[in-house]
Amino acid sequence: MSADCLFCKIAAGEIPVEMLYEDDELLAFRDIAPQAPVHFLLIPKKHIQDPAAITDDDERLMGKMMRRGAAIAKENGIEDFRLVFNNGAKAGQTVFHIHMHVLGGRDMQWPPG
Ligand code: AMP
Repeated sequence: MSADCLFCKIAAGEIPVEMLYEDDELLAFRDIAPQAPVHFLLIPKKHIQDPAAITDDDERLMGKMMRRGAAIAKENGIEDFRLVFNNGAKAGQTVFHIHMHVLGGRDMQWPPG
């Protein structure tokens, strides 16, 4: 756990969220400011700052996050979805604990803004 990390506090159960999934390694919860009809986040309980900080030891966990995100999207009736990792402030990262956005339920534009 990293001090003053919002998502570490969520992982520790200190801040309530609309939880969709939890196991010993990761959790999924709805984004507080949804950008699509379905918008939730997958985070590892382990504090990893951003995608650039992923190590060899984290590779299995990152794959698990993707598979679990796809499964939760399907459970929510979403077949087409977008997975987003923001890395760094200029890319839009505001919480510096790695998280995967899962967005769906509307048409998506490309390229992203
Ligand atoms: P990013 O901008 O990629 O760092 O994404 C951070 C996301 O966390 C944003 O989409 C926020 O809306 C979301 N967020 C921030 N605080 C909370 C919270 N307490 N519960 C759920 N989602 C949150």
